[in-house]
This record gives sequence, C-alpha cells and structure tokens, in this order.
Amino acid sequence: MSREQLVVERARRAFQTGKSKPLEYRLHQLKSLLHFISERRTDIAQAVNKDLNKSKNATELFETLGLEGEIHLAVDKLTQWAAPRPVEKNLLTISDEVYIQPEPLGVVLIIGAWNYPWAVTLQPLVGAIAAGNAAVIKPSEVSSHSAKVMEELLPIYLDKELYPVVTGGVSETQELLKQRFDHIFYTGNSTVGKLVMQAAAHHLTPVTLELGGKSPCFIDKDCDLTVACRRVTWGKFVNCGQTCIAPDYILCEPSIQNRVVEEIRKNIKEFYTEDPKKFEDYGRIINQRHFKRVMSLMEGSTVAVGGDSDQSECYIAPTVLRDVTGESKVMQEEIFGPLLPIITVSGVDEAIQFINEREKPLALYVFSPDNKLIRRVIAETSSGALLANDCLVHFTISALPFGGVGNSGMGRYHGQHGFDQLSHLRSCLIKKLNMEGTNDMRYPPHTAKKLSWARFFLLKPVNLGRLRRMALLAMFAVLAAFIVQRFLRSG
Ligand code: NAD
Repeated sequence: MSREQLVVERARRAFQTGKSKPLEYRLHQLKSLLHFISERRTDIAQAVNKDLNKSKNATELFETLGLEGEIHLAVDKLTQWAAPRPVEKNLLTISDEVYIQPEPLGVVLIIGAWNYPWAVTLQPLVGAIAAGNAAVIKPSEVSSHSAKVMEELLPIYLDKELYPVVTGGVSETQELLKQRFDHIFYTGNSTVGKLVMQAAAHHLTPVTLELGGKSPCFIDKDCDLTVACRRVTWGKFVNCGQTCIAPDYILCEPSIQNRVVEEIRKNIKEFYTEDPKKFEDYGRIINQRHFKRVMSLMEGSTVAVGGDSDQSECYIAPTVLRDVTGESKVMQEEIFGPLLPIITVSGVDEAIQFINEREKPLALYVFSPDNKLIRRVIAETSSGALLANDCLVHFTISALPFGGVGNSGMGRYHGQHGFDQLSHLRSCLIKKLNMEGTNDMRYPPHTAKKLSWARFFLLKPVNLGRLRRMALLAMFAVLAAFIVQRFLRSG
C-alpha cells in the first residue's frame, strides 16, 4: 500500500467517525488555522522569500491577509451557512417542510499551485473545513520551501488525520489521483487540469478546476491613462507577473500606444526604482524552467521597456512589448511572467472580437470612463470575472464567486461560495402522512379532471409572505379536501 493510499484511507476513516461534522469542531479547527498563520508568520514569510523572493510585508499583503479574512468570515457565518435553507414551495407542499441542507461531501483532495503557495492551498481548505469535510492537502512541489513548512507545521495546529499534508512531485500527485475522493479541488494550469479531470472521472468525483489563461485588458482611448496605467502596472508586475488573474496583454488604439508605454515606464520606475533587480519588492521567476519559457516568449517582439534579465537569479525586468500581434509568440500561451504585450486594435469592436476569438479568460479588464462601453463589453464577452477600471481586486470580495469559465476553469470559491462548493446541497422534503386526499390527482386512473387539478396545484408558485402563507395554508387544505370529496373520488 502506497503512502498516499494510507493517508487517504486514514482521512476517510477519521471522516467516518463523524468528528469533522459538529459546528464547534469546525470552528475550533478554523481558529487553529488562524493561530497557525499568526504564530508562524515568520516561517511562512521566510519560505515565500526563498521560493519567490517576496518581502515579508508583501507575503502578508498578498498571501495571508486574504486568508485571515476568509477564516474570520467563515467563523462568523458558519452557523448561518450550515443551517437548513428553506425554499419556495408549490401548493402541493405548502404544509410540508421544504429546505436545502448543506452536508459534508467526505474527503476532499486539495492540489495547490506555487505562485501564491499559501493562499491557493489553504483558502480551499477553509471551505473544506467549514463544510465539515476531511481534506488531503497537496502543496506544489515547485514552491518547495513553502511546501516543507506546511508539511512540518500545519499538523501541529490541525487534526493530523483529518487534514494531512502530502508533499512530493508529479508522481506523488498522480498516486493521490488514483485514490477515491469525494471532491478534487485543483489549482494550476489547464493541461494538468485535464489530467486531474480524467483521473476524477474514474471514480465519478466532482472537480473544481481553478485554472489560468490569458486575461485581456482593454484600455479605452478616452480614459485617464495616468490612473489606468498605474493600476495595470501594479496588477501585471506584482509577484513578477506570476498571478493567475494578472492582465496578460493590453488592447488599445494605436493613437494611445506611445502614452501607454510611457505611463507604464514611469510607474515601473516609481514602484520598483531604476534598478528593480536590487529592489526588495520586485520578485523572481520561480525556477529555471519558467525563466527560459518566459524569456523565449519575447522572441520576435519589440521591447519598449525593460527586457533585461539575469538567468543565475531567475530575474526578468518588468518588460513592455509594443506592436505585438495575435500571431506573436508571446500571444500563444499564458505569459505568467513580467512581460506586458500591447496589441493595437481599431476600437472596442475589434477588442471584443479579438477576445471572443480566443479561450474564455479567467479575468477581463476594461478601463473606460464610459459606462455604456463597459456594459457592452460585459454583454458581448464571457470570462470568469470582469473588472472595470482596476486590476485584481475583485479577488478580495468574498461575496463574489472566484473561478473560471471554459478553459479558465470550473467551479468557484471564496466566502460562502467555497463552503457551498465543498458541500452537498441536499434537497429535503418532509411530509406528513395525513392529507392523503390531496394526492388522489396523481394516482391512476389519470382522468382529464385530475390533470387539470394537477396543473392548478403544480403550476401556481407560492410566493407570499409568511403570515399570508399560513392563512392560505388552512384555506387550501380545506379546498383540497373539498375537491377530493366532491370531484375526484366520484370521477
Ligand atoms: P504547478 O506546477 O505547481 O502544478 C500544480 C499542481 O499540479 C502541483 O501540485 C503538481 O504536483 C501537480 N502536477 C503537475 N504536473 C502534474 C501531472 N502531470 N500530473 C498530476 N499532477 C501534476 O503549478 P502550475 O500549473 O505551473 O501553476 C500555474 C498555473 O496555475 C497558471 O496557469 C495559473 O494561471 C494557474 N493558477 C490559477 C489560479 C486560480 O485561482 N485560478 C491560481 C494560481 C495559479
């Protein structure tokens, strides 16, 4: 029996004891996760610094702050999220209890990515714990320092059997994927996403795929370019461009291309100094493989800003590429690095066409003072999320579902969406054994009269206030009894 198989079996046995279900237990584990983050801030920051050359403050800002917010929210709202959710009834069920009961799925596999190694691995875990599941946590081997700290320290805070951490590379992940889970939550690229889905199909396991892709950014010529370019510069070069929702490329009219370039140049200098390589808040590419991949994407394009690099340090300067076309090499895959190509289009029509000819992105950015133009882009395109006049920050709103569509993924999380995603939303209908007369219309023989009563009872929605519902309930019970007595039994 492999190590992975053992871990999954142990997690399943622990789940089957029922100990992850009581709300007090879930709250206790969530609070322990919070203690882990606050007590081990330095360990976490040091690991991320080794993995991605990120400063301590940047790690707190971009990794753990959001995580803490999600945990606080789950702790505050858990009772409400986990409670039965009454739903609208029809006339036939007006006196019954009809509700949705969220219940745990079982054992969840969480496969994390390396670019925000803590946020993308532990945030799904918040949903998994809140929903009452067991979860096997597989951090990315690429961010190896973070994976090691997670493996060593998390078990000190969380139940080791219910929430084990499994480290290792592709073969360990593949071994895990052979096991039976009740849900797989994967964050990473679309190619591996397909392998995950294939493996999940074997056990009919549902999946959440948080993938990436090329997120476009349209800048309207009439907008305040100073503000727009400042926000785009931040969204692109934070974490050295290794952000799933980073604006991948800019679409704008030729008449503003020079100004866009100059504004971004100015912002790069302001944010990262004349020499970003020496500046503590400018990161590094995760490894040599990705360094070579990103460098090769520049081939054939004109560098307008930056372009220098240092392979020994996996350093690539914040770079802007101008006059790029849809056929350029940099446009053939998600960049996931600090290269920002500008593609010129004749206006919003061509921008929309350009976007729609490609895979549905994870995020779509549009900068414009014209509300009508923004609404048009919303109406005529599709993406995981749309953000107007800013970058990335939709991620911070827990009430918005975070996830992709089409090639950028399936499923969603954050806040209650994460709880719901990792719960089974069970339909519950509790009837009583009385009022059998009202059922006659469904029993044979299926006469025309019974059918017309069925139409009446089933097609009339009940959408009334509680009090009126109670009063009507009594009235319909009498009416139903009368109908049964007077018509159905005789016909
Ligand atoms: P990665 O290389 O860390 O891979 C992710 C996980 O997949 C790892 O745990 C790894 O062990 C596993 N894996 C890799 N190859 C495998 C294989 N052949 N079989 C089974 N498992 C395998 O991360 P990555 O894919 O380079 O991450 C970057 C991608 O993730 C980008 O496309 C980015 O946009 C996307 N991403 C998406 C989100 C989101 O929330 N939507 C967040 C972060 C990253």
